[in-house]
Amino acid sequence: MNEGQIYWNSLAMHGGATLFIAKNNGVKSLYVFGGGEAFNALEGEAVTLPGGEAKRCPLNNANAAAIRRLFPFANPERHKGRAFTLGLGDRLGLASAGHLRLIRDMDVFPVLAQQSIRELNLTGRTYDDVLSAAVWAVFQEGYRKGWGADGDHLKTAAEVGMALDCGFTMITLDCSEHIRNDLAALPDAELWPRYNLLDAAERASLEAAYLGKTFPLEGGGELTFSPPELRRIVLVYLNAVKFAADVYNTLLRGKDADFELSIDETLTATSPQAHYFAANELLEAGAAPVSVAPRFCGEFQKGIDYRGDPVEFEREFSVHAGVARTLGHKLSIHSGSDKFSVFPIIYRETGGNVHVKTAGTNWLEAVRVIARARPELFREVFRFALNNLPEAKKYYHITENAANIPDIDALGDAELPALLDQDDARQAVHVTYGLILSAKNQDGSPKFKEAIYAALNEREDEYYAALAERIGRHLPR
Ligand code: ZN
Repeated sequence: MNEGQIYWNSLAMHGGATLFIAKNNGVKSLYVFGGGEAFNALEGEAVTLPGGEAKRCPLNNANAAAIRRLFPFANPERHKGRAFTLGLGDRLGLASAGHLRLIRDMDVFPVLAQQSIRELNLTGRTYDDVLSAAVWAVFQEGYRKGWGADGDHLKTAAEVGMALDCGFTMITLDCSEHIRNDLAALPDAELWPRYNLLDAAERASLEAAYLGKTFPLEGGGELTFSPPELRRIVLVYLNAVKFAADVYNTLLRGKDADFELSIDETLTATSPQAHYFAANELLEAGAAPVSVAPRFCGEFQKGIDYRGDPVEFEREFSVHAGVARTLGHKLSIHSGSDKFSVFPIIYRETGGNVHVKTAGTNWLEAVRVIARARPELFREVFRFALNNLPEAKKYYHITENAANIPDIDALGDAELPALLDQDDARQAVHVTYGLILSAKNQDGSPKFKEAIYAALNEREDEYYAALAERIGRHLPR
């Protein structure tokens, strides 16, 4: 066998065929020896190797689909009540094998393919591409303990349908466009007339369900709704709940997919009462969510630690955890990258029954590898990120202060990786990923993308090790 590096964990048998992944001259391929169904199902070219005649197959989407038909473990699945589930967004399609190496002996259910439509657009990928990258990582690592695929922040029925058609097993329905944030801060007196416009029978049934009652929470504590509070919650959230129930009933009922209700991308924090109301109304509509993502107090900004008052966070989070226990769903923590100061609270209050989503931190570790491996490339990428920050800030909310970012020209090469520990620089590189990856030279060729992929391909093990270290710090201890 003279085909470079073999990924021994990928070795698999099917019928009379033996399959494995190997990297030769920097390109990974699937090799198939023998004959039978697997040999015929995979597309590739005949090669003669010291081990005999084989077929060398590209790691493309068509072959990923064939691998999914041949090997059940290569298909994403629901988490089926697993307590700790971890979303591991992989915008480059290079990180999942590193994630699997970290968690393979842990009680963690990995949701490897996790992308929002925004991320697809910014990276120029499709859901098929995202899923295929995860399939190849699972096959490469021979990971047979089950994994998920999350169509993240889907906002329309059409997007949900597309993700289901591609085989995604978790649907995160983002209801933010149906949440009336503009009413959240309205004075009580102005809510009255709006509330009274709602159907009288609907108002009466909601009031009978929520007013004058005490809702005990499993594990301690209780919730009550005052009349003004209920009116506000109904006005802000009722349409969103109806939208979610409608999408569930038309597309998700009876489907093999975990349904997550996302109400986190809003301007104001979700109160425990609003969380209870939204989840309970979905239960009443027969559209029980598997997980719910409220917006917590303080700030969960992308790729940096929690900002806010940890004492207040703990007080409020413990009530949210009680709501989730009582109604039978798990909390989902969005923008979970690097929230090191609040992970102990999150894991203690949920007893580890929680979903945490990460994505940006995996990209930032890739950039850190570039900073070590290709300092000149990193400098170019970094300057580009700073120059294009205003554009990226149109769709990502961050509070970065460019004045805090050290002058890269004053830093030596050895100091570059540590630049990614500085919050403002971190955020700048984080939110500009799409612009960096899609940047073109004057002749239309990619400005950075190919060089980034080449460097990471060369430093594959180093990237996996960096991911293991970083994501390892996100796990319950
Ligand atoms: Zn979110």
